[in-house]
Amino acid sequence: MSIAGNVGLQDLPRICPLISRRVQTGLDSDHTRNVLVGNVRFGGVRPVVIAGPCAVESFEQTLAVARAVKAAGAEMLRGGAFKPRTSPHDFQGLGVEGLRILREVREETGLPVVTEVMDPRLVETIAQYADMLQIGSRNMQNYPLLVEAGKCGKPVLLKRGMAASLCEWLGAAEYVAKEGNMDIVLCERGIKAFPAGEYSRNVLDLGVVPAVKAETFLPVIVDPSHATGVSLMVESASCGAIEFGADGLLIEVACDHPGAARPRCDAAQAISPATLQNIVSFIETRTEMRMLRKAHAV
Ligand code: PEP
Ligand code: MN
Repeated sequence: MSIAGNVGLQDLPRICPLISRRVQTGLDSDHTRNVLVGNVRFGGVRPVVIAGPCAVESFEQTLAVARAVKAAGAEMLRGGAFKPRTSPHDFQGLGVEGLRILREVREETGLPVVTEVMDPRLVETIAQYADMLQIGSRNMQNYPLLVEAGKCGKPVLLKRGMAASLCEWLGAAEYVAKEGNMDIVLCERGIKAFPAGEYSRNVLDLGVVPAVKAETFLPVIVDPSHATGVSLMVESASCGAIEFGADGLLIEVACDHPGAARPRCDAAQAISPATLQNIVSFIETRTEMRMLRKAHAV
């Protein structure tokens, strides 16, 4: 007996034919689509590190973090101008002023910028400032937002909903693809599963990385910051993600020099620029090893 409403991996070719590896044949079995953001390439040999503050709080703070992450080896800057907060009384981000800051900091540092869009009415505006649009966990199934993002002409970073199955996540990506935008990068950011909240913010589902790779040719990255919520866990989570085949990382960083202000958002999970540098070194070593192994295999 089959029960209507149940979906499984076997349904993916029907749910998301445009991004399904099984439907879009003719691709190499290990091919990952290359998504370009400026001159940053997702899906190539080298995993991409995106780093920056949780929220854009001021020009000075954003520039300082951007310079630090660039010096540590990050290739792209993250930073929220519109923040999804649990309480409406908490800091909501600087809005359009935050977008202006991001644009200026990009001009100063040369780092392409990704920032979150929560409202379909703001897609066009945010696309004028950012190099890549982030759709957050809470909005993964906001279908009007996905449709607008599909039309915006910019690459999209699509986070996994905190309680989303792989089918739901890839179905959401298909909404963007259906509008003609195939420049999608998926991002695992931890799920609400037992015992999330006890010793870590969420449960980092690393197994989903190879599963995504089996089902679609889209690149997939990991956000170890929101997945763990604990700065001490971010480095190991990052290394684990790379070992599982992630095409990149999205990491929250705060400056830690004497006198640096504590972030107004997600301070407990922000790592220092020095820790980011360790993560980048790990990636470099792993990438060299992989390239050597490939060269020997030929
Ligand atoms: C973020 O990356 O700024 C964010 C809010 O993450 P998530 O949507 O995964 O909670
Ligand atoms: Mn955050």
